[in-house]
Amino acid sequence: MAYATKTGMQEWLDTIQPKVYGNFINGEWTESSSGKTFSINNSANNKKELASFQDSTEVDVNQAVEAAHKAFKNWSMVPGPDRGAILYRFADLLEKSVDELSFILSAEQGKTLAESKGEIFRAAKEARFCAGEAFRIEGNTMPGERNNVWSSTLRKPLGVIAAIAPWNFPVVTPVRKIAPALAYGCTVVYKPASVTPWTSARLMELLDEAGTPKGVVNLVVGSGSRVGNPLVNHPLVKGISFTGSTALGVQINQIAARRFAKTQLELGGKNPAVVLDYDDAQSVAKQIVSAAFACSGQRCTSISRVIVVKEKKEELTEAIIKEMREIKVGAAWEEDITMGPLVNQQHLKSVLEYLKIGQEEGARIRFGGDVLTNGLFADGAYMVPALLDLVTPEMRVAKEEIFGPVLAVIEVEDKEQAFSVANDVEYGLAASIFTNNLSTAYRFADQVESGMVHINHGTASAAHMPFGGVKQSGFGAFSIGSSNVDFFTEMKVVYFQY
Ligand code: NDP
Repeated sequence: MAYATKTGMQEWLDTIQPKVYGNFINGEWTESSSGKTFSINNSANNKKELASFQDSTEVDVNQAVEAAHKAFKNWSMVPGPDRGAILYRFADLLEKSVDELSFILSAEQGKTLAESKGEIFRAAKEARFCAGEAFRIEGNTMPGERNNVWSSTLRKPLGVIAAIAPWNFPVVTPVRKIAPALAYGCTVVYKPASVTPWTSARLMELLDEAGTPKGVVNLVVGSGSRVGNPLVNHPLVKGISFTGSTALGVQINQIAARRFAKTQLELGGKNPAVVLDYDDAQSVAKQIVSAAFACSGQRCTSISRVIVVKEKKEELTEAIIKEMREIKVGAAWEEDITMGPLVNQQHLKSVLEYLKIGQEEGARIRFGGDVLTNGLFADGAYMVPALLDLVTPEMRVAKEEIFGPVLAVIEVEDKEQAFSVANDVEYGLAASIFTNNLSTAYRFADQVESGMVHINHGTASAAHMPFGGVKQSGFGAFSIGSSNVDFFTEMKVVYFQY
């Protein structure tokens, strides 16, 4: 089958015979004890069924956790370099499968093929970084307080990890959890979002092909209440790596605290781009628009607030609109598409509700915001990206996460007010500043309440740098980079007298 061109995807979709996927427990594909399955449809054409998955229960979760617990005994003893070698093979397989996997990803999630390919290559990079980390799980050796004593620290793998992911990045988010877990000697039970489980099934096949032993990685598909909840509550789960909404993150942290399970929480954002001065409005607008509307604005690090000084507001707004006019909305298989549909109708409804709330609060839709329903658009959740202006800092659209293609422009008097507005939200994930003044840029980096700061740069992160948020945007060790060691391992101190 040819996977090479955009038209290839359409033909591929036509050939799909919906298949029933099992859970992946202890190296076997198994049916749920519920005897029930559910199906998912193409995000860009909701009439097209793609595949079915197990509607799992607590019984399946228990089996998966017990398999992971049993596998931990041997896996944690496998030398780090050998664990790393499996991850290198996995990264190679991800890249080899990029064409097929990007079709699956675009079909279930809706993002453009270019975005899907970018996500898969990114996942391969992150897996390789983790493979390298498996070679250098460092401890310290320090002088003793007494003669003939060596004092040292070791890092021991934590145990069974529950990995829970949302639907916006169904390849890179699980890889971001599974690859470091494996590198540091942990085992995993993974629950994907119910709307995007297909790529997850393929990830299990690739991990298996890469040589991951039975029980080291397990997949249980099903709802948050019937699968996520018992997983988080399971006494053998020692760490929970969760990416999703802040409300659920808080709930999970409370449950974990009762038994001192560790958590790594990547939550929502309301990320600002502060614009103070520039040489070229258009190049700033280009960076902002790309960071605001990639993945249809359904990224935790999407820029959702432009905080701009009043003398630049009009010029920058016009430049942003010019860039937004270039966005071409459509289905992933169409040529030159730059923005896919939203993930489903329910999510579109919630985004539109925010546009309504914003207008009621006094904001104005300066550009876009129309729902697209003609022809092909009738079968998906398509909208033109929206720009709101006349937004003031106390409005809900300036404070709450919309998680869709909506950008709010907030005019401020000066840089002092810009800094204060940037911090005046509950979230603290990513923040950008655009300025030619070096001192101002450094002051912003120092004072903005945000896990990640970008200077004259959109909010794209790198595959080897720690990733995370502060305030209501995150808790626990940052993921991706070397900071992962703090979540996936526990410290042990050893004194040795000779
Ligand atoms: P949700 O918080 O609704 O769901 C996330 C995951 O949790 C899903 O797999 C969901 O399952 C599962 N879940 C639901 N209920 C429970 C429960 N009681 N116990 C355990 N797990 C449960 O988030 P969304 O999927 O809607 O994703 C959007 C959110 O994710 C946004 O707030 C966004 O900002 C955030 N996000 C943060 C990122 C970051 O790195 N900071 C990155 C990407 C997204 P099910 O699908 O079955 O409901």
